[in-house]
Amino acid sequence: MKFKPFHYPSQDSKIHRAKKYLGQNFLIDPHIIERIIESCQLSKEETIIEIGPGTGALTRHLKNRVKTLIAIEKDKALAASLTKELAGSNVKIIEGDFLELDLASIVSKTGPIKLIGNLPYYISTPILTKVIEQRKHVTNFYLTVQREFAQRLGAHPGTKEYGSLSCFVQYYARVQPLFLIKSTCFKPRPKVDSGFLRINIRQVPEYPSRDEQFLFQVIRQGFNQRRKTLLNALSVIISKARLEIILNAMGLNIQARAEQLSLEKFVLLAQEISKDLGSSVQIKILEK
Ligand code: SAM
Repeated sequence: MKFKPFHYPSQDSKIHRAKKYLGQNFLIDPHIIERIIESCQLSKEETIIEIGPGTGALTRHLKNRVKTLIAIEKDKALAASLTKELAGSNVKIIEGDFLELDLASIVSKTGPIKLIGNLPYYISTPILTKVIEQRKHVTNFYLTVQREFAQRLGAHPGTKEYGSLSCFVQYYARVQPLFLIKSTCFKPRPKVDSGFLRINIRQVPEYPSRDEQFLFQVIRQGFNQRRKTLLNALSVIISKARLEIILNAMGLNIQARAEQLSLEKFVLLAQEISKDLGSSVQIKILEK
């Protein structure tokens, strides 16, 4: 299906001046809009949520592919303009902040749903964190983010982009980078290119941890000073001598750094550290 170029009434600078503080960079390239819509694998039976519809570049197409579209926009003027334009359609515009949206109440009638958004970059991390934390309400999250952020989300061990954010997201979801979006596809044009991704929520993690909080504490600490060896970086959690025994038993080099460890290895490492700390706490109690 070919998309016609659109008229963007609200993008006329006289009508709507883009607000930098709200991360407003509107999509203007019809080919990219088409690729995004086609990638989202939509069905006429589903309800979806769009985060930050802005001037409606995606909204106008998304609505024709789904049963109901709920779009949440923080900018009062843009929300009002879309509400007027789309009155009587299958689109419900909510004027508000996605970070405060009660997903549970929305999905209570529909079951877990898809989220789609060309995210305001200034809050990409909090939005992603919210989606991950409320993942039981979400099946897939299709998102456009800055290229460097996209690379970090999908990064593999051994790369400079791989870090605690990669581990956090990949623990709960399968990250699929779909395509690059040049900065020229937006107006106003951002300083950097973007990436479009699919985040497919895993209701059960691939490598489940018995203590997720402790796992992420170990991961964050490990990457805190990423040039340091794990032995040094984790010394605030466990003594170097004990960690050396654990690393040896796991077949890991004692010079290993966090960026070399896969998520699976981190899960095992955190488990072993936790066991070791648990037993040393018990020994201390017995010694008293
Ligand atoms: N989807 C549109 C497009 O592709 O052209 C607009 C994308 S623009 C990058 C991000 C949009 O999110 C803007 O319309 C902005 O006003 C809105 N926004 C910013 N912060 C928001 C928040 N906390 N909750 C909901 N929308 C927000």
